Amino acid sequence: MARYHIETYGCTSNRGESRAIESALRDAGHYRVEGPEEADVAIMNTCTVVEKTERNMLRRAKELESETADLIITGCMALAQGEEFREEEVDAQILHWDDVPSAVTNGECPTPGPGTEPVLDGVVGILPIARGCMSNCSYCITKFATGRVDSPSVEENVEKARALVHAGAKEIRITGQDTGVYGWDEGDRKLPELLERICSEIDGDFRVRLGMANPGGIHGIHEELADVFDRHEKLYNFIHLPVQSGSDAVLEEMRRQHRVAKFLEVVETFDRELDYWTLSTDFIVGFPSETEADHEQSMALFREVRPEKVNVTRFSKRPGTDAAEMKGLGGTVKKERSKAMSELKMDVVAEAYEAMVGETHRVMAVEEGTGDSVKCRDEAYRQIIVRNASERGVEPGDFLDVEVTSHQTVYAFGDPVRAAPEP
Ligand code: SF4
Repeated sequence: MARYHIETYGCTSNRGESRAIESALRDAGHYRVEGPEEADVAIMNTCTVVEKTERNMLRRAKELESETADLIITGCMALAQGEEFREEEVDAQILHWDDVPSAVTNGECPTPGPGTEPVLDGVVGILPIARGCMSNCSYCITKFATGRVDSPSVEENVEKARALVHAGAKEIRITGQDTGVYGWDEGDRKLPELLERICSEIDGDFRVRLGMANPGGIHGIHEELADVFDRHEKLYNFIHLPVQSGSDAVLEEMRRQHRVAKFLEVVETFDRELDYWTLSTDFIVGFPSETEADHEQSMALFREVRPEKVNVTRFSKRPGTDAAEMKGLGGTVKKERSKAMSELKMDVVAEAYEAMVGETHRVMAVEEGTGDSVKCRDEAYRQIIVRNASERGVEPGDFLDVEVTSHQTVYAFGDPVRAAPEP
């Protein structure tokens, strides 16, 4: 659970990007503090309109670098003129907006906040179903903060979900450090039962997105789970299954509770049961013990499973963790490996969105986007943007059919399909 500080410069669109970053961080249990001195990580979302702005950005980046533990620079100047920060020797990760949340998370699992109470944000209801995890990953600091699994009963979570739907939630986001181990402390993993009951016992038009489930936690209930997904339209066909590496040797050093074969078994089961679904996964590149051959195994696994959503995190040490004691790899090696994997990610993800062009999908409008647009999610939680939303009368909470007209790597654009008039 990291404390972050964020600064945003420039136009409304850039502010929208910061809002999206903050929403992802909040979902993952991180929280904002005022001022870089209080933060574990500072995020600077830059603008580059006039030369004076650029000079200010460079000066501010230098200040932030000295005031905070880790610095991430994103935004237009970072993407267009990232080398200027490097020339000034600013010690920061320079990233695309989409890659900021996973860099903050550093490979750790999301952590429900201290209250673990449901929250409604627009039409999205966030439902933390449990706290803690069963693992002891060597790079994770979150574990120290949360400890063992603590699962409220299925009944209690169903009632919380019902209350969110009654309060207006159209999308329920089920969160937890590891949703797969929900119920373990009560003697039995109960995620399939919980999803089954939420989808069958709560009336109303809403969707459910399942949050991160570790491959080790979900393995063993994956067949039952795939069956629940297959039977319930309310469940987005989306699984976030962080594999972290394609090498068993690295997974062992990471002290993950799965090996590659277990991860593949889960993926193959979902492939078999569902025609259309999204595999979301995470990779940590540049873990201290990762050899070139290990990295190649991760790249090969990536090509094999072709995930439609991926977080690639360059390993960084978190104080107090065992991995921080290991002799690390050089910055250049980590950078090169992360660049290679990020390029592969762009190809694989773009291919998935490209394949959607021309198709019609049932979507739900989840939130306002930049300009006059709304962000929608289809059956597999892929993002489809509908532009000119007010003219088309589309707003968050609406369900509609859209035809995908084009795409931009990690999301698609679509036009609402008008229902044919009754004969
Ligand atoms: S599964 Fe590993 S990374 Fe996730 S919270 Fe537990 S110890 Fe941390």
